[in-house]
Amino acid sequence: MGGTVALIVAAGRGRRFGGDLPKQYHDLAGRMVLRHTLAAFATNPQINAVRAVIHPDDRQLYDIAATGLPVLDPVDGGASRQDSVRFGLESLEALAPDRVLIHDAARPFVDAGTISRVIAALGEQDAVLPVVPVADTLKRGQDGLVIDTVSRDGLFRAQTPQGFRFERILAAHRATAGQELTDDAAVAERAGMRVALVAGAEDNVKITTAADLERARRLFEGAGEIRTGSGYDVHRFSEGDGTWLCGIKVPHEFGLLGHSDADVGLHALTDALLGAIAAGDIGHHFPPSDPRWKGAPSHLFLAHAATLIAARGGRIVNVDVTLICERPKVGPHRPAMTTRLAEILGIDQGRISVKATTTEELGFTGRREGIAAQATASVWLPR
Ligand code: MG
Repeated sequence: MGGTVALIVAAGRGRRFGGDLPKQYHDLAGRMVLRHTLAAFATNPQINAVRAVIHPDDRQLYDIAATGLPVLDPVDGGASRQDSVRFGLESLEALAPDRVLIHDAARPFVDAGTISRVIAALGEQDAVLPVVPVADTLKRGQDGLVIDTVSRDGLFRAQTPQGFRFERILAAHRATAGQELTDDAAVAERAGMRVALVAGAEDNVKITTAADLERARRLFEGAGEIRTGSGYDVHRFSEGDGTWLCGIKVPHEFGLLGHSDADVGLHALTDALLGAIAAGDIGHHFPPSDPRWKGAPSHLFLAHAATLIAARGGRIVNVDVTLICERPKVGPHRPAMTTRLAEILGIDQGRISVKATTTEELGFTGRREGIAAQATASVWLPR
C-alpha cells in the first residue's frame, strides 16, 4: 500500500499510574485518553492507516475507545514495550507501508504540526525523533545533596511519534529483540541507524501518573471554551390521551397540538443546544412544512443537535429544562424524563436537570390552554 501508518502503543499496564485501570483507558474530558490519541491520527489526512497494539485483557475497553473511528483491528502486545512494538510492526508487514510513526497511547495531545514535521523529515531520513529542549538547569544529586551541575547543552527530551522507514525499523527491532530499550529511536540507534531531530511540541505531554492526568484535564479544558444556549417553546392542548414531555408520554386528559409529537420540552432543549453552537433553530433543521416530520418523535431532533455538537469535537456539559404548566403534574415523571434525556444525549444523568413550575393560574399556561418550556444548555467546544 505504501504511505504512512501510525502504530499506537497501548499495551502497557501503567505501573507508575496506580489502580486497576490502565491510564490510556481513563477519562479525559469525556473520552478515553486512547480515543483522543487514536482520533488524532485517524482524522489526519497524512496518515493512511492506524493500528493499536493492546494488552489482550483490554480488548473490551479498546473497542469502546475506538468506536466509530476508521482504524485497523488491534493486535496483542508482548511482555515489554519493545516486544509490543515489534509485534505491531510484524502485523503491518503485509500492508508494506513506506513509513511508520510509532506513538505512545498516553500522549493524547499530539498535534498535526509535529506529525507533519516528522513525516516531512522522513523524505530525507530513515529515522526521525521529535524533541523539545531542556529548559530547567540540570543537577546531579546524591544523598540529598547536589554533587554536580550538568550542562544542558545538546540535551533534549524525546517525544513521540517517532518516524521511520518501515523496512528499516522492522529490521532494527528484529535485530534488537529482548534488549529492553525504552524507545524506538534507541532501537534505531542500537541498529546503527542515524536518527534525525525535529521540533516536537511542549503540549505533547506523556501521561504517566495520576497527577499528569489531572494536569492533562486542565490543559484540555483550556483548549476549548464553554458556550451557552437557550431555548423556548409552547404547544397548545388539543384532544388526546396524554402529552409527550421530555421523551416520556405522560397520561393526561389532553394531548398537545403540533406537527411532530409536540414534545415541548425536547423542542426547547433542542433549540438550546443548537443555540450553544450557533447552528440555527429546530425549524431550520426540521421545517414544519416538510411532511417527513409529521408526527415525528422529537428525540430525533434532540439526537441531531447532539450529533452536530459531537461533529465539532464538542461535548455537552449540562442541560436544564423547565416545564411550565398547571397540569399534568410533572414531578412523578421527572426521574423517567432524566433517564430518557441521558439516553438520547449520551451523557450522565448528573448533567441533566428537569424542573417544573406553574404560573399561579395566570396567563395561557395558567388557563391550561397549553404548556411552555424553556431550556438552557452549556457545551464545551474546542477553540
Ligand atoms: Mg415546538
